[in-house]
Amino acid sequence: MSDLEPFRLQTRQWLQDNCPPSMRTPMPEAEMVWGGSQLRFHSEDQRLWFTRMRDKGWFCPDWPREYGGGGLSAEQTQILESEMRRLHCRPPQINLGIWMLGPLLLEYGSEAQKRELLPPMARGEVRWCQGFSEPNAGSDLASLRTSAREEGEVFVVNGSKIWTSYAGDSDWMYALVRTGPQQPKQAGISLLVLDMRSPGVSVRPIDLISGKSSFCQVFFDDVKVPKAQLIGTLNGGWGLAKALLQHERRAMSRFSESALPTHFDLAELLNQYLPTASTVADVVLRQRAVACLMDEHAYGLSNRRLAEAAKAGQDVGGLMAISKLVHTEQERDKFELLLDLMGHQGLGAGGDVHHERELALTHAWLGSFTQTIAGGSSEVQLNVIAKRVLGLPDAK
Ligand SMILES: Cc1cc2nc3c(=O)[nH]c(=O)nc-3n(C[C@H](O)[C@H](O)[C@H](O)COP(=O)(O)OP(=O)(O)OC[C@H]3O[C@@H](n4cnc5c(N)ncnc54)[C@H](O)[C@@H]3O)c2cc1C
Repeated sequence: MSDLEPFRLQTRQWLQDNCPPSMRTPMPEAEMVWGGSQLRFHSEDQRLWFTRMRDKGWFCPDWPREYGGGGLSAEQTQILESEMRRLHCRPPQINLGIWMLGPLLLEYGSEAQKRELLPPMARGEVRWCQGFSEPNAGSDLASLRTSAREEGEVFVVNGSKIWTSYAGDSDWMYALVRTGPQQPKQAGISLLVLDMRSPGVSVRPIDLISGKSSFCQVFFDDVKVPKAQLIGTLNGGWGLAKALLQHERRAMSRFSESALPTHFDLAELLNQYLPTASTVADVVLRQRAVACLMDEHAYGLSNRRLAEAAKAGQDVGGLMAISKLVHTEQERDKFELLLDLMGHQGLGAGGDVHHERELALTHAWLGSFTQTIAGGSSEVQLNVIAKRVLGLPDAK
């Protein structure tokens, strides 16, 4: 028995005792629980599951206890995650702060910032949004123009951020701002955290052709941000942004493992919709399904290797780009395949409550395209891989 086996058994037992059966089912998007001041539960089971995981510190199992985490080692965290997958546990809450800003603060935040910002994040009390992209700065993020001018004890922020997911529901934002307008573009950027209720912050939702949208545009009009809310050093934001994007890619490369609103079991659906192959088209579909399952398995193994490399202190920045690229492209292909497999039965329409799973599949399929853009598009990941993994020179 390995040293970790007792922990695995205890964790399995705890999850069995504490994760209500209804929290072990696929999670429709409408039932996602986001932390923050507008926290809402759709059922008593959701509230229980949220509270129990929060009290264990298992929203962020591998953070130190003094900052509200669970104090688990990397190996124990992997075990917890794999046991949650095994039981099909829903994520008890979803929080960009925990996925992205928290790990960055642990590494680069001052002690005061860690003590102030991390514990409420770890308890799911503050919902965070990401203010990086701007109307003319998406892939070319370093071209951002939102300015932060030093004035006594504060920065005065002016400008606008776009595609800010859930900005209207968020309590705080971490934002990249230009503090050194005279410097070369990467060298004049800083990372600030700011309260979304600060005077001068306004949020405008962006409507999409599909109707439903989490996107917002955020405007800053002489917003005063205390200097204590600068993360890292003045004009040192670009390095932090790159580190944070790695955390984002890591989170995105693991979406379907636990955090995606819906998980579809391809093997189960294959048996249900195509138990035998009677036509050439069926054989082709089954071959695609088997290839997809093998790809998923290979991806899982590669990810474990990546985790080991990170644990051994190797620079996995470029590899994270491979992981994000492969996973989001694989997910999109998988949802295409699921739609092909289920045929017209895979098409859900809004308000069609009798076809929840089909509706969820349609949303997941549409959403899978957006994941190949969010956090840096697939083309941008290829550029990162070319430079950081293959060592190729910049394209002229
Ligand atoms: C679901 C979703 C959620 C998002 N949430 C947030 C958020 O919360 N906060 C936030 O700040 N941003 C968010 N974004 C924005 C996201 O980061 C940007 O959409 C992304 O970085 C691409 O930028 P862009 O939209 O300006 O496209 P552009 O940069 O204009 O790119 C347009 C096209 O050109 C290609 N391209 C651009 N440059 C290159 C190049 N050098 N080489 C090859 N091809 C290139 C791109 O791949 C893309 O196909 C989100 C986006 C999505 C889809």
